[in-house]
Amino acid sequence: MEMSPARERLTQHKRAVVKIGTTSLTHPNGTLNLQRIEKLCWVLADLYNQDKEIILVTSGAIGVGANALGMDERPREIIGRQAASAVGQAMLMQIYQNFLRTYNRIAAQILLTRDCVNDSLRRENARNAVNKIIEMGAIPIVNANDTIATDELPELSDNDTLSAYVASFSDSELLVMLTDREGFYNKDPRTHPKAILFRELNEVTPKMELTAGGSGSMLGTGGMVTKLNAARYALEQDIDIVMASGEDPAILLRILSGEEVGTLFTTIGGE
Ligand code: GLU
Repeated sequence: MEMSPARERLTQHKRAVVKIGTTSLTHPNGTLNLQRIEKLCWVLADLYNQDKEIILVTSGAIGVGANALGMDERPREIIGRQAASAVGQAMLMQIYQNFLRTYNRIAAQILLTRDCVNDSLRRENARNAVNKIIEMGAIPIVNANDTIATDELPELSDNDTLSAYVASFSDSELLVMLTDREGFYNKDPRTHPKAILFRELNEVTPKMELTAGGSGSMLGTGGMVTKLNAARYALEQDIDIVMASGEDPAILLRILSGEEVGTLFTTIGGE
């Protein structure tokens, strides 16, 4: 099948942000899905070997920490989330570090708060740090700094929004959001088995947001609506966005070779 001009453009991108959510990183019982994280690390390292510059935005700190501390569910109170993330973030980075080391790569942790996005000096600092880390061959791994996050600054409490901001300040050409679905459908695929997957879209409309409904799972926070908002923000800056399934992290290689997987939001062409 012939590649669309928009998919063709994906093959030329050099810098991308990849966002992976808690549900993709953990088993249903809350423990880490090590096979998947190992494969993700393998794919990231291999993309770096091909001179691609991938910035990973990872969730999982709160979920993993809550599990390690023996909490039955993700803490609702901010103080509980702060404590859980302090434990979980360290565990998460250790795992990334261990797996990446197998492939001769080093993980570099970047924890961001809302002011890193709003304040131009801090944003510039974050951009410079990302550039330097990549220049030195290490892999930036970003999360929100949930341990000092507050209720007054809710915007960074979901990593979908965070990933769009990171794509913007790091001058990325592509944002890949890996999720527990194949992409964006015309109806909720959990309740409508015949729902149709959109392949290429040029805008995010209010109607799409209505279709998207609420949050998708118990463990993570973001749902399709936050993903669509993140996509809109990125699209405004001519960043391509692909929403795709995180079940097999090798899907990143397929996306970057222009294969028609997931839903692509792009400023190129029309339906
Ligand atoms: N930053 C949160 C964590 O690491 C995740 C937020 C989200 O699920 O979007 O647990």
